[in-house]
Amino acid sequence: MLRKILIANRGEIAVRIIRACAEMGIRSVAIYSEADRFALHVKKADESYCIGSEPMSGYLNIYALVNLAAATGCDAIHPGYGFLSENALFAKACKERGLIFIGPDAEVIHRMGDKTEARKAMVAAGIPVTPGSSGNLESVEEALEMAESIGYPIMLKATSGGGGRGIRRCDNAEELQRNYSRVISEATKAFGSADVFLEKCIVNPKHIEVQVLADHHGNAIHLYERDCSIQRRNQKLIEIAPSPQLDEAQRQYIGGLAVIAAKSVGYTNAGTVEFLLDDNDRFYFMEMNTRVQVEHTITETVTGVDIVEEQIRIAAGLPLRFKQHEIVRRGYAIQFRVNAEDPKNSFLPSFGKITRYYAPGGPGVRTDTAIYTGYEIPPYYDSMVAKVIVNALTWEDAIQRGERALKDMGLFGIKTTIPYYLQILKHPEFRTACFNTGFVEQHGELVNYSNKPRPEVLASVIAAAMASHTGL
Ligand code: ADP
Ligand code: ADP
Ligand code: MG
Repeated sequence: MLRKILIANRGEIAVRIIRACAEMGIRSVAIYSEADRFALHVKKADESYCIGSEPMSGYLNIYALVNLAAATGCDAIHPGYGFLSENALFAKACKERGLIFIGPDAEVIHRMGDKTEARKAMVAAGIPVTPGSSGNLESVEEALEMAESIGYPIMLKATSGGGGRGIRRCDNAEELQRNYSRVISEATKAFGSADVFLEKCIVNPKHIEVQVLADHHGNAIHLYERDCSIQRRNQKLIEIAPSPQLDEAQRQYIGGLAVIAAKSVGYTNAGTVEFLLDDNDRFYFMEMNTRVQVEHTITETVTGVDIVEEQIRIAAGLPLRFKQHEIVRRGYAIQFRVNAEDPKNSFLPSFGKITRYYAPGGPGVRTDTAIYTGYEIPPYYDSMVAKVIVNALTWEDAIQRGERALKDMGLFGIKTTIPYYLQILKHPEFRTACFNTGFVEQHGELVNYSNKPRPEVLASVIAAAMASHTGL
């Protein structure tokens, strides 16, 4: 088993990985930028090292991180999500330094991180993919010709894109002409690659993704699917496991496809195969994420499998502990990404000091976060400040619990997406499990909630103010 792991990340996912290490008797090493000096992961890890005054560059400095891991006697690095998690050079650098990278092989990361290469691999494995260009586009003329033959609308995408960025829908030739250079410049800036491709736009699809686990002994299983259709601008907001919009036959089919996809590319460790589901109940492969995902929590909740622990076990060379038939689901889980954003103001980031925070609790509630009262959210990173995960035996009860937990949570000093989520939870289409990736855009009215504090909140704010005044 591994003895010591460097966590090349920050925020809630760093804390999540530290918790897995603690349960497994593994020492954890945290890293932090100057801006993160007071971050929770720094306090929670067994050891912490400052990696520079720049907010970002330290978390992205492959050689400094690999050297630090070696110097501190680590045997492995966990990359979390974002940052270097899907960087093949990082995985390779770890290996060359005799460190285990907790994720798949560098070649597999490289291949799956390139969306056109991934599409090719899936076609070869017999997995349905959206109709689209077979490789990267060479020119706007080629793009126009390709779009004409596929039929509008099309999606223009950055080949190495991620996090919902570098994607534009084009409804006609003019739009494609206009967006072509935009996406190229976006892609160059955000991902350091100018490669773009296009594929058919599936109008208002459902986003269904399957969690897979594969070991180094040829075993691969899936942990069923998640429904991430509640998105804004291609970014996930609320995720659900399993999808309340699939029947059991679809569930088995898509799980099976994901395992075939993983096996066909020699995948190891935890990964996610993302699909789109159209109105005619057809699934199309979209991309594979070669890392732990933000929403791995809901799969853990309904299956009882600790995905981060399994990642570490697989990386240590152990065989999978579960056979496919041993994976049992129970009920529904919903995750809310609590973002420091103001829904009423075009979801503008709302960074600042958390004046008071208390986590929601009670049955069926899990909170993954790295915030605490008095913590100042630095403006340099992701706006996601917490994940609230609820579960219950039925879809209806999971919704009720979600509502209760979000109201239960106390988070003051910044604006968050919580009041907006409470509106989504009330919506009949959400309640009857009938929604697609167009939901947020189609229901722009849901941001028109009242900002008047609820009486019980008001009471607690007054109580807190009085307590701080009297020094109680
Ligand atoms: P998930 O795929 O786990 O559901 P997201 O797509 O929201 O979650 O991505 C998780 C985090 O990783 C976000 O902070 C996002 O900005 C970042 N991210 C994902 N892919 C990339 C990428 N290719 N380049 C840079 N950042 C990325
Ligand atoms: P990322 O790497 O940023 O996660 P994805 O390729 O997974 O990018 O796409 C992100 C989201 O964009 C999807 O969840 C979906 O809502 C939308 N999307 C992507 N491709 C298509 C498509 N061909 N048709 C319709 N929507 C799409
Ligand atoms: Mg995706």
